[in-house]
Amino acid sequence: MTGRRALVTGANRGIGLAIAKGLAAKGCDIILGVRDLAAGNQIAHDMNASAVELDVSDQRSINHAVEAIGTVDILVNNAGVLGAGRLLDDPKDFERSMSVMVHGPYRLMHLLVPAMVHNRYGRIVNVSSGWGAFSDGVSGPAAYGVAKAALNALTLASARTLPDTVKVNAMCPGWVRTRMGGASAAKSPEEGADTAIWLATLDADGPTGGFFRDRKPIDW
Ligand code: NAP
Repeated sequence: MTGRRALVTGANRGIGLAIAKGLAAKGCDIILGVRDLAAGNQIAHDMNASAVELDVSDQRSINHAVEAIGTVDILVNNAGVLGAGRLLDDPKDFERSMSVMVHGPYRLMHLLVPAMVHNRYGRIVNVSSGWGAFSDGVSGPAAYGVAKAALNALTLASARTLPDTVKVNAMCPGWVRTRMGGASAAKSPEEGADTAIWLATLDADGPTGGFFRDRKPIDW
């Protein structure tokens, strides 16, 4: 993995930071996608990485970030938001959820995948959730499950259109102790990051178009 360039969104804390640190430990050059660049630069400095300002709900921010970054070998769409209440109560929550967890990942893939195809190497990991699984009833609060189900669909459908050299997979980290998961969750951020790190560094014969938890396939 030495020298592979990896962009992780929402990398300033929680599972995203653990993924970034895990990939750095494997020798990747890490770019932390962060909304607060000053804080991100500090984190990046401490782990010998770099940071780029990136609000995945903002098309201009995505364009600026991609311009600044150039190409990457690995994209981890990790940024996520968890609303509250019922699905049909709040159109703003629906729009925000879709923007952060579907439109942002789509736009980043749209801009970053062509170079991966050209370079015959790419690994895309979409950090999803079991709450986005149809097999589990698309649950979770507000629009969260619907957005993750759409992210799963994006994973499956985009993998079908790409050569096998560019792998796109979705994963569920499990219930993880972060600001989103809360203090009672079962897993540490490092444990939650493990499957994403594995998928981000798959060998050439690794899977694509799958949905995983604890490194094992799970039902969509
Ligand atoms: P977290 O601690 O709340 O972190 C969320 C991250 O997303 C933060 O870095 C946050 O940045 C970033 N983010 C939110 N909106 C953004 C935007 N518009 N643009 C860029 N970044 C944005 O949550 P987490 O538990 O680490 O979650 C990471 C991923 O795992 C999410 O996709 C989540 O859905 C998924 N997941 C988590 C659990 C769990 O139990 N924790 C379970 C299943 C799936 P700021 O600091 O700037 O807000």
